[in-house]
Amino acid sequence: MAEASRSESKRCVGTRKDGSPCAARVMGGGDRCFAHDPARVAQRDQARRKGGANSATAARAEKLVPAVLRPVLFTLLQTLQGAKAGTIEPRQATAIGSVARAIVAVYQVGTLEERLQALEAARATHEGSEA
Ligand SMILES: [Zn+2]
Repeated sequence: MAEASRSESKRCVGTRKDGSPCAARVMGGGDRCFAHDPARVAQRDQARRKGGANSATAARAEKLVPAVLRPVLFTLLQTLQGAKAGTIEPRQATAIGSVARAIVAVYQVGTLEERLQALEAARATHEGSEA
């Protein structure tokens, strides 16, 4: 009796997309086939979500520009459109461009300072370990 039930391959307890039982043969341990393995399903869902987010145009654009500079980019794009359409005076567009350049310059100094501090901290830690 026990011998007979062992020789029969185990069947998957998962459910197909149409609601019918899967009944595929189960290899190794567990009670689910390759397609219904909970660990694999979770992995697959995660990969799908990640792929969806990455393919979004907004997400791609946001990666190109640091968060603090996004409003600047937005304003510059609006200014460009306005200047092209004639709704913004050239003088105004030039002024906006100058301010945007100034903002970027301040941001660059800030990030350079941050990187310099990180480098100095790393160097101090390294020298400390050698001494
Ligand atoms: Zn299955």
